[in-house]
Amino acid sequence: MRPTVHLALIGAGIAGLACATALQRAGLEVSLFDKSRGPGGRMSTRRGADWQCDHGAQYFTARDPAFRAEVARWQRAGVAGVWEPRLGTFDGASPQGRESTVERFVGVPAMTAPARYLASALAVHALTNIEQLRQQTHGWQILSAEQGWLETRFTAVLLAVPAPQAVPLLQQAAPELAALAGSAVMRGCWALMLRFAAPVDLPFDAAFVNQGPLRWIARNSSKPSRRGEETWLLHACADWTEAHLEEGSESVAAALLSAFGQLGGPAPQDWTVHRWRYADTEPALHEVCAWRPDIGLGLCGDWLNGGKVEGAWLSGQALAEQALRSFARC
Ligand code: FAD
Repeated sequence: MRPTVHLALIGAGIAGLACATALQRAGLEVSLFDKSRGPGGRMSTRRGADWQCDHGAQYFTARDPAFRAEVARWQRAGVAGVWEPRLGTFDGASPQGRESTVERFVGVPAMTAPARYLASALAVHALTNIEQLRQQTHGWQILSAEQGWLETRFTAVLLAVPAPQAVPLLQQAAPELAALAGSAVMRGCWALMLRFAAPVDLPFDAAFVNQGPLRWIARNSSKPSRRGEETWLLHACADWTEAHLEEGSESVAAALLSAFGQLGGPAPQDWTVHRWRYADTEPALHEVCAWRPDIGLGLCGDWLNGGKVEGAWLSGQALAEQALRSFARC
């Protein structure tokens, strides 16, 4: 293996973290850049004075053997656990009980925990928004909004960001990869976090909603090791979100609270709203990842592999394997 291989990985969500972990384990030097304050991307938790609420990914499955092994490693490290909510489905005004054999995992004590665990072993540069890439004779240079062109020349650049955010970075460097990212349709999701002074008396901990603006409601406090005030999370469905994307927080919250009320939910003592601009991909792509060995440019992320946490991790892992095969040949 060449000792000088140094890779830039843009995006410290679960795909980027999986990719960077595999590359670093194989002996390569990896620098991770993320525009946010902390790692995790859409595996995200909002915190207040005495409350917390997962407002992005709600839980994840682990069907693939490699991902199951990784989740077992997270469980041993105490950063993931099984969540067994009392589940319901709303097709009308009252919930139908829902039997489920699916094993649901969550981060412990918050959804961000697995990402923080992975990031602790990696070189992560937070609050670094990458705006441009350029290929020079001696490798790739990247431009950050905060620091301008970074001096380091990277052997390869790997993008682990949502498809619409990859497009502008790829347009000059690799138009065909920009076209692939441009073909992925990612849709938004309004999230409403509710806080209550006392436990809410509803006959379920989580429910799939097949009517009106909502698609999912969950008692965040029913997940393992959650502390603080009782919190619930409401997710709007993609069609409703896209139709109300530019609406103000107050009117979005009013509509979602009214829908929650119609399902039997009480008024909260307080709420916080968050708009996810790119939540899921419809239809999901199944490329797994994309890698151009000739120029050293790669893509991974949930949008390339089914649109979930598990798919994102597997996509990052697959990109690392492809890149490692190329470098082994050098
Ligand atoms: P992300 O997590 O989006 O990570 C991308 C990272 O790139 C981010 O940290 C971002 O800050 C960074 N970034 C972007 N552009 C730049 C740039 N220019 N420079 C630097 N950094 C940049 N999945 C499930 O399995 N189960 C669920 O229940 C579930 N529910 C969901 C509900 C919602 C509301 C949302 C939003 C998602 C949900 N998902 C769920 C999907 C899941 O969260 C994603 O599939 C997964 O987290 C995506 O990981 P990723 O690494 O591909 O992307």
